[in-house]
Amino acid sequence: MKVLLIGSGGREHALAAALNRDPKLEELHVAPGNPGISEIALCHQLDIKDNNAILSLAQSLKVDLVVVGPEVPLVNGVADVLAKAKIPCFGPSKAAAQLEGSKDFAKQVMRDAGVPTAKSYTCNSKEEIEKALDAFGAPYVVKHDGLAAGKGVVVTDDRAHALEHALQSSQVVIEEFLDGPEVSLFGISDGHYVLPMQPAQDFKRAFDGDLGPNTGGMGAYSPLPWAPDEIIEETLSQVLNPTVQEMAARGTPFVGLLYAGLALTSHGTRVIEFNARFGDPETQVLLPRLNSPLAQLLLAAATGKLKEFGDLNWSDESAVTVVLASQGYPAAPASGEPIMGIKPNDHSFVFHAGTAIRDGILHSAGGRVLTITGIGSDLTEARDAAYRTISQISLAGSHYRSDIALNASVAEKGN
Ligand code: AMP
Repeated sequence: MKVLLIGSGGREHALAAALNRDPKLEELHVAPGNPGISEIALCHQLDIKDNNAILSLAQSLKVDLVVVGPEVPLVNGVADVLAKAKIPCFGPSKAAAQLEGSKDFAKQVMRDAGVPTAKSYTCNSKEEIEKALDAFGAPYVVKHDGLAAGKGVVVTDDRAHALEHALQSSQVVIEEFLDGPEVSLFGISDGHYVLPMQPAQDFKRAFDGDLGPNTGGMGAYSPLPWAPDEIIEETLSQVLNPTVQEMAARGTPFVGLLYAGLALTSHGTRVIEFNARFGDPETQVLLPRLNSPLAQLLLAAATGKLKEFGDLNWSDESAVTVVLASQGYPAAPASGEPIMGIKPNDHSFVFHAGTAIRDGILHSAGGRVLTITGIGSDLTEARDAAYRTISQISLAGSHYRSDIALNASVAEKGN
């Protein structure tokens, strides 16, 4: 198989590494990729917002499959352009990507499919916003309707801040606050049939103890020793299957990765959000644990043959990933600093997220710079491996959380 992967972050580095492990993979091309990815695949420069550039590259390389990492090309309709040219694509059509592209659309689908989620109001005026804020009370949850690169959601006790955030977007969804731990559970869908992956948990706040601003994600781990055994089956039957069936019934089948962000509340599981692609950094802990051949899996999904693929096969090992972020991330990330001391080993992977080569030297080139995944027989071992590797890396002003998977690893040891 020849595969073209679109994207340039830590998620794509993890996807590239897992695709490479598939014995059927012959050639892996990544556009645009990054310095880490270029060590394991052929990278091609292009603008990921340019659907025709992606199509031309896929055609000239004669690939069997295109895998789309980030949401922007999906919401731009790259899957539709590839479908017209009969090139299998793992990633939903523009219409189906609206599950991520519009919070209001996702709410409508969940309502029609009977999927449990937070009660919400979609508001288009200051009057409606104020009414909705007062109907739910604090903590206020305000979501901009469209794609916002992780900056669209504010959860706050401060009504004035909630109102100010709401007024920055022409349409917002205001919803009830959901308490309880959050879990990310991904389903691979061929439009009709869904294979659930294992659950993971990510850490959205910038600093230890879940303090500081929301980020794109500062770390993740999998599996979740504390999660109820039935979480996968329950999410499949209550969330993933009904959503995929509803999208098919609407004539816009969802082909690709359906990311369910869940809150395990005292009243049961509720969907916090859908994404239409692999999560970052959850992918960096899930894929190192996946034994099933990824290229064949994603091709089966892209060509409507997932049922024949069989269940996914997972390693029993645990994985913990820790994001090394640049100084000032997330508000005002510095870049252009040299990175030294990357020494991956048998128990850890260093996935590049925001890096660039300048004058032959690796430099930071974004907010999240590296994602370091440790593997071990339990979360404690996986944490040790990740933190051992990250502590050897030097990047001026950088920061990382020291408590990724800490509570879960302590609880696991206690059992
Ligand atoms: P989202 O982009 O929708 O995942 O939201 C980002 C983060 O905001 C989530 O991971 C949650 O931590 C938080 N969040 C979103 N919606 C809610 C909600 N209804 N209740 C509590 N927290 C929420």
